[in-house]
Amino acid sequence: MRLDELTWPECRDYVERSGQLLLPIGTCEQHGPHLPLATDTLVAEHVADWLSSETGILVAPTVSYGVNLPCDRLFWGTSSVTPEAFRTYVAEVLSWWRDQGFRRFHLISSHGDPLHLEALRSLERPDVRVRDLWEMDLSDLLEAQEGAGHACEAATSVMLALFPDKVRLNEVVDFETPWEEFAPYLRHERTDPVPGSPGQQGFPRKATAWKGQAIVRRIKTRALAWLLSP
Ligand SMILES: [Zn+2]
Repeated sequence: MRLDELTWPECRDYVERSGQLLLPIGTCEQHGPHLPLATDTLVAEHVADWLSSETGILVAPTVSYGVNLPCDRLFWGTSSVTPEAFRTYVAEVLSWWRDQGFRRFHLISSHGDPLHLEALRSLERPDVRVRDLWEMDLSDLLEAQEGAGHACEAATSVMLALFPDKVRLNEVVDFETPWEEFAPYLRHERTDPVPGSPGQQGFPRKATAWKGQAIVRRIKTRALAWLLSP
């Protein structure tokens, strides 16, 4: 159930009854030549809607821009804001709802940029909690990777499970930069293009819908346990 489908008197009644909100955090970010720019947004919204159906907590309109790697600037369509702007934007949106009596905010992110997550986590306080949906061990579910990369075996599997029509199967290629070379990009220390990279970091050719279903089940199970925890 979505917050913005209610009228304000209905929202007032909801605040008196519950006062909790789920807030999906997405990005407008290249995901290789085979996945759409909305990939993080689609996954965060899907999980938030499922959590809402399980708990009755309303889903607020998605924050669809986040903090992306500077080297992604050259991939058409990608856009980003600074960590400071992102943090301020989300904090101010929450502050209006807090003033109206909303009592607890659950921020759901499917984007793993370390500066993005750091900005979100800086907002944590007793009434604000942050969930990185990919923060879990996936090594038993993946063949070519130890954990999640970018537009990789894991993310492509999830998209094949949830939104198969949005995956450009003819465009799927593997590409990985060795960790020691990629780390400075991840820390935003290097802003030049990653040599030869089509955008992904990992092995999406190993992706399957079956793996995606297993990963989605794990993401949802962990997220629900997190949501219900005190
Ligand atoms: Zn991302």
